[in-house]
Amino acid sequence: MTTRKETVNPEELIRPRIASIGAYHVEPYPCEVALDANESPYAPPPKLAERIHRAMGAVALNRYPDMLAQNLRDAIAAKEGVEAEEILLGNGSDEVIQCLCAATLEPGETVLVPSPTFSMYRQIAGYFGADTVEAPLREDWSLDLERMLDLMKDRAPKIIFLATPNNPTGTRFARAEVETVIENAPGLVVVDEAYVDFADWSFGPLFRQAPNVVVLKTLSKVGFAALRLGYMMADHRLSAGVNKTRLPYNINSITQAVAREVVEHWDWLKPLFGMVKKEREKMSAALKKTGWLAPYPSEANFILMRVDKDPQTVFSGLLTDGVRVRWFKDSSRLSDHFRVTVGTPEENARFLKSVDGIR
Ligand code: PMP
Repeated sequence: MTTRKETVNPEELIRPRIASIGAYHVEPYPCEVALDANESPYAPPPKLAERIHRAMGAVALNRYPDMLAQNLRDAIAAKEGVEAEEILLGNGSDEVIQCLCAATLEPGETVLVPSPTFSMYRQIAGYFGADTVEAPLREDWSLDLERMLDLMKDRAPKIIFLATPNNPTGTRFARAEVETVIENAPGLVVVDEAYVDFADWSFGPLFRQAPNVVVLKTLSKVGFAALRLGYMMADHRLSAGVNKTRLPYNINSITQAVAREVVEHWDWLKPLFGMVKKEREKMSAALKKTGWLAPYPSEANFILMRVDKDPQTVFSGLLTDGVRVRWFKDSSRLSDHFRVTVGTPEENARFLKSVDGIR
């Protein structure tokens, strides 16, 4: 073929449903202090780093990974106090969400989320032709339980996603309210504990009491975003069903080997979680003193704050000083809010100094 003939418009090959979705997008602003992605600012402790390097060195790159990732699933099962067959691994918890949606959603079915929350729930549900309905959180970012229950009655959602602590608000939902949602749910309830290591308590293996519950976790927020490892824990029959939508070898051998070391030495990471929590409280107190940044209480590794000055001016000022935060510019409820990840003490000081210089 020498001449290129466009007999088909490539754009028309895309399903209208997909064409209408905005791609997940993060502005690639270059900067020295990245406080926009809820990553951990810390490298692993040296004794863990040493084990990780050894484990990476032992990986046979010419061989396919263990398709079942048995060793890693066993290690996670031991850490979580569950059975390996209850665990399903994904290339990040994003992929687990995708597997869950692929396995459970028929086109036209409904997904229910509080709002604001993590945007990928709606996005991924859309791939499968499901409609997402939102129950706006109250002013203090707590669940509007009545609204949730009404929507559950009217729309019979196949999946309800509850991120707790929630992104981007940082709030943890009340246990009794989550339990009421679970009791009344006509389908699945996914309790996403991506940020749970920075909270005071976890919901634990809720799926033991209610087999319509899935608990989601990830290594991305605790220092290992590069590994891309997330997992769900659920009734083994549910996990087996969802597993049918998982691509073979979705967890590469390096991730399997490194994540196993991480999970087996979890206690070594706990001081880092403690540092983030301490810095979060210090940062919150300093923000309140500005008089124009109003932080909400957070149980995550970030703080949501209302900006009582022109957000564009503040955002640009921070970027000029090499500090990148997350601004929900296009959101109706959050266009004057920033979400700022808790960094190292030095990074947080730099953020606060930059804030101080903004007039
Ligand atoms: N759940 C929540 C609530 C999140 O905020 C995120 C990341 N922003 C994820 C899941 C996805 O994390 P990952 O795919 O990195 O595991």
